[in-house]
Amino acid sequence: MNPSHPATGSTPLLSTRFGLRIVALFLALAILLVTVAVQVYRAVGEFVEASDWVAHTMEVEQEIVATIASLRDAEASQRAFVISGSAERLADHHGALPRIGDHQARLAGLVANNPQQAANVQALSGLLDRRLAGMREILDLFEREGIAAMRTSAPVQRSRDEDAAIEAAARRMLAIEDQLLAERRARTDDKAMLTRLLTIGAVISCIIILGAALVFVLREQARRLRSEGRVRSTNEELTHSLDESQRLGRTLRQLGELGEMLQGCRSPAEATTGLAVALPQLLPRMSGSISLINSSQNLVETVAAWGEAGTAGEGLFAPDDCWALRRGQAYPPAGVVPPFRCRHLPATAGADSRAHLCIPLLAQGSMLGIMTLVADEPADAAERAVAVATAEQVSMALANLRLQETLRTQSLRDPLTGLFNRRYLEASLDRELQRSARGKQPLSVLMLDIDHFKRFNDTHGHDAGDALLAQFGALLARSVRSEDVACRYGGEEFTILLHETDAEQAVERAEQICAAVRTLDVQHRRQTLGPVTVSIGIATAPRDGNAPDELLHSADRALYAAKHGGRDQARLAA
Ligand code: GH3
Ligand code: MG
Ligand code: MG
Repeated sequence: MNPSHPATGSTPLLSTRFGLRIVALFLALAILLVTVAVQVYRAVGEFVEASDWVAHTMEVEQEIVATIASLRDAEASQRAFVISGSAERLADHHGALPRIGDHQARLAGLVANNPQQAANVQALSGLLDRRLAGMREILDLFEREGIAAMRTSAPVQRSRDEDAAIEAAARRMLAIEDQLLAERRARTDDKAMLTRLLTIGAVISCIIILGAALVFVLREQARRLRSEGRVRSTNEELTHSLDESQRLGRTLRQLGELGEMLQGCRSPAEATTGLAVALPQLLPRMSGSISLINSSQNLVETVAAWGEAGTAGEGLFAPDDCWALRRGQAYPPAGVVPPFRCRHLPATAGADSRAHLCIPLLAQGSMLGIMTLVADEPADAAERAVAVATAEQVSMALANLRLQETLRTQSLRDPLTGLFNRRYLEASLDRELQRSARGKQPLSVLMLDIDHFKRFNDTHGHDAGDALLAQFGALLARSVRSEDVACRYGGEEFTILLHETDAEQAVERAEQICAAVRTLDVQHRRQTLGPVTVSIGIATAPRDGNAPDELLHSADRALYAAKHGGRDQARLAA
């Protein structure tokens, strides 16, 4: 925007080059037209004046001719009177005389402003006056002495010369008038030529100026159209990049939400369920699935799928069925028509023509599985970027959840027997006691201690002792219901929490365990070791107490009693 006109938004015409040019052309045109108009006006004035002068010259010449003609009339009528004696001719003669004076006076008036002609008129008047006086003398002689005397008289002798002088004077005046007329014509012709040239020049200049204005207007128009086009395309680019950035912003937000959702999950199973809901929003054009490799690395299982049914393909397949898993990279690579189709993809009708994209789920260098996407058209660069970013996030989340699960298991379970550890027992005993108190249900605690374990260790070795502990643990795990809790309390001592089990039922379950242990064939290095027995102490809440310590103590005392009672038996707290 022009900084000097920030508020208006439009630029005044005069501050543009185009505006200045147009105004300059307009001024040039105006000056030219005024000049031509003045010139033409003056020329017309001069033409009028010239034609007045022509008329004036004509008038002067007419008067000269008329003066001479009137003189000839007077002479002719006088001669006719002399020859015929007719009174009528004499009257004609007298009638012609004043006309000579009239024409002479008018002529003097007409040439008054021309000193040369005025002098000529005066000279002519002198000649005419003399000639008229001569005529009067001739008439007088004729009347007094007759025609013969008259013919030889001096005035008659003189008349021929006087007429010649008068005619010469008249011709001189006519010649001067003709010359004046010729001079005026020449001046008028020059003026007419100049005016013609000026008019032609002005017309050509006007055409040139108007042509230049037209060129400027057309150029300006073309420039405006170009700049409008540029503004439009810039506008389109801006709109496009705004859309892009909005789309990117939306995708980033959705990826962020996905990350938050995954962080909130407590297990891989929970995460994959959530992904099946969240991923269609991130990749709306695509159906897809997530498949994970099992711990033995020999099977891939589809754990979540979204979009059109059946796009996930095989639910269970070998890692080699997927090119992305084989290569450890997204398949097919960007912009490549895939030469092979992954075998795990659906084999339904029309599925072959659909584009697919498999992205390996990799975290900390280990392969977790793949994300498979299927759509009618191959993913564009933006969709591919979103898919890859999503797969990375999913991989990280799944790896974290797996790690968390492992850590949780390790912190709660005893690695040798696979049973819960003492920490878990203490935490759950407290919780279970409260729950059974609320539900007014009994809860029994069994304390188990393998008999003469030290001797077993000493006889068969520590490894054999470990094998016994592991197999004893497996037996306990088999012997309890899913809601019961079997733990390794420490060394060769174990604890079992029995839900909603009273003392009588607990004794029965303990005796079943004693019986099962008696039949245990401990296998170690392809040898059967044994036999093994166990002593069990039993305490029941609320009968033997309501606090964890109290209950464990009672069970421990009952165990002690069982040992003293000869081992391989179950005793209820006293
Ligand atoms: P009793 O019948 O009175 O219970 O006799 P016992 O020998 O079982 O009792 P004692 O408490 O004297 O011996 C327990 C032995 O268990 C001592 C220890 O060396 C052994 N032990 C504890 N933990 C482990 C273990 O993780 N592995 C093996 N192999 N032995 C263990
Ligand atoms: Mg012991
Ligand atoms: Mg023992």
